[in-house]
Amino acid sequence: MHTLTKTPPWFAIQQFFWIAVDWLYPPSCAGCGKNGVRLCSSCLQQITPIDHHNSCSHCDLPEAGQLCPDCQSQLPVFDQLRSYSIYEGVLRQSIHQLKYNNDLPLADTLCRMLISLFNQQNWKVDLICPVPLSLQRLRQRGYNQSALLAQILAWAVAIPYNGKALMRVRETLSQVGLNAEQRRANVKGAFWADPRLVKDKTVLIVDDIATTSATLSACAEALKTAGAGEVYAITLARTVHINSS
Ligand SMILES: [Zn+2]
Ligand SMILES: [Zn+2]
Repeated sequence: MHTLTKTPPWFAIQQFFWIAVDWLYPPSCAGCGKNGVRLCSSCLQQITPIDHHNSCSHCDLPEAGQLCPDCQSQLPVFDQLRSYSIYEGVLRQSIHQLKYNNDLPLADTLCRMLISLFNQQNWKVDLICPVPLSLQRLRQRGYNQSALLAQILAWAVAIPYNGKALMRVRETLSQVGLNAEQRRANVKGAFWADPRLVKDKTVLIVDDIATTSATLSACAEALKTAGAGEVYAITLARTVHINSS
């Protein structure tokens, strides 16, 4: 069992650890390159939170009214998705840095946005798990950035984390360039959840970007098939341009 329960002290220790890392290896801002910070205050200010009062109540698509056209045509299986901001500008650069430049301490800085977003919700979550990376990408990158974010969030909000509750059982193509139907087909049956870990639980899935709601919906489907109750999803960013196809 890989569950961590009620461990806020770890969160404090981890914060201290990153302060020590910054002292040894001074960081530079992921947005503008300024020395001494991982994300400077003027870059942080450029990341505008999504206005959840005007976004889709189900998938959080900005300025979509009560229910966006995609959700109206086929409601994703998760109960609700919330994202912090649009995938653009400083946030896009920061996520890129986290994914491709091994800037692991940046996960801690970015996760503050997830913690703030999570605390605005009325979700009663029993278990937090990341969207699993494909084995091929895990081998290339060496770590799953969504697992890092999920772990830090879980520690901060004192909810059990389990990186084995949701597994990828099939490799998928990139979702970029596919239409809504193709995206759903691409990820259908790609995930499996462990009933021993998720049955009767309210689960929160964490990812860095919601490129489409199809992947998160397929994850939620696997979790619900395994007996999970409600399934919520949270991401740092979401893309908006391809959701209209
Ligand atoms: Zn900056
Ligand atoms: Zn929607």
